Amino acid sequence: MEPTGLRDLYLLELKDLYDAESRIIKALPKMVEAARSPELKAGFEHHLQQTRNQVSRLETIFSGLDQSPKGQKCKGIIGIIDEAEEMINDTVDSPPAVSDAALIASAQRVEHYEIAAYGTVRTWAMRLGRPEDAALLQETLQEEGQIDKKLTELAESYVNEEAKFAS
Ligand code: FE
Ligand code: FE
Repeated sequence: MEPTGLRDLYLLELKDLYDAESRIIKALPKMVEAARSPELKAGFEHHLQQTRNQVSRLETIFSGLDQSPKGQKCKGIIGIIDEAEEMINDTVDSPPAVSDAALIASAQRVEHYEIAAYGTVRTWAMRLGRPEDAALLQETLQEEGQIDKKLTELAESYVNEEAKFAS
């Protein structure tokens, strides 16, 4: 689809996010499994549940637009998840704190990508006169921001600290 106006672009980016979130749902159980600290494990599990809700919000928006959410492949998230999986494999024999630090680094790349994308579509939704969409997108944006902050806290509180001693 060749975007000719902001509405087309909006749809394209929403489809991209729908594909991204669907891939994140598939990737998160691997993160849960790979996490060594119970807190990090719980954090990923919680975010998996949130991500399912985020997909539902996107589906609500698409049905309001009378459009299908399918049809776009998010190459950005494919690359980020690919690197994350590589990181999991590379740190499988590393000390727990080191592999958790690597997992957090990968997860934060995902969150920052999502934060950028949701910020954009939320603003576009407002410009297109779709405040209900904007409110749903804002909710998701807040969840992505919260998990990002939580990951930073986890990294700062113990993971990086332990990695320093283990090196
Ligand atoms: Fe998400
Ligand atoms: Fe997320």
